[in-house]
Amino acid sequence: MNAHPVRILVVEDELQIRHFIRQTLERAEYQVIEAATVQQALDDAVSGKPDLVILDLGLPDGDGVDFVRAVRDWSRMPVLILSARSDENEKVNALDAGADDYLTKPFSVGELLARVRALLRRAEGGDAGAAVVRFGDVEVDLARRTVLRAGAPVHLTAREYRLLVVLLGNAGKVMTHRQLLREVWGPAYVDSTHYLRIYVGHLRQKLEADPTQPMHLRTEIGVGYRFQA
Ligand code: CA
Repeated sequence: MNAHPVRILVVEDELQIRHFIRQTLERAEYQVIEAATVQQALDDAVSGKPDLVILDLGLPDGDGVDFVRAVRDWSRMPVLILSARSDENEKVNALDAGADDYLTKPFSVGELLARVRALLRRAEGGDAGAAVVRFGDVEVDLARRTVLRAGAPVHLTAREYRLLVVLLGNAGKVMTHRQLLREVWGPAYVDSTHYLRIYVGHLRQKLEADPTQPMHLRTEIGVGYRFQA
């Protein structure tokens, strides 16, 4: 018996999906709070002190994006979005507003639990703070600002390095085009998606075993990029 069970707020107005998620989470020994509206979710986020929120975007009294904006004013609790194919734009808006990851319906039990575990790990700071990050045959020393591949130095431009560092610092998490452009190029460039395509291409050429089948610098179609260790 876990002394401090992890509590998850599930915000979903479709009863069947909500019950499916509840059962899945309870079998994995998480505690579940349920909400079916944005208003109820905001109340529960305050009173229930959840460790993580699973959030449907299409809710009867509003958009899940409103919930994300409101919560981000006072909390960094991880938010996993559930999106239907029809709300692709809302998905990106919610990620830009501070949601951490997403699942597209329909999703499997395995996918749901894997995303939940990854977000909880991140929230505990398990992946943060490492001075040296290794993936494939690449070693990035964040303190010395050096990149080695199979032991040999790799030259990155300042911008390529900055992009790599932002992706590494958010390992496992999807970063939207706008988030990456804002962090690496600045707020005036949030729509210059082609810059990203070019620079991610450079990084893949320099760091991936097969740049056409990237294992670590992954594309999230229509959303952004994700670094996978
Ligand atoms: Ca819905």
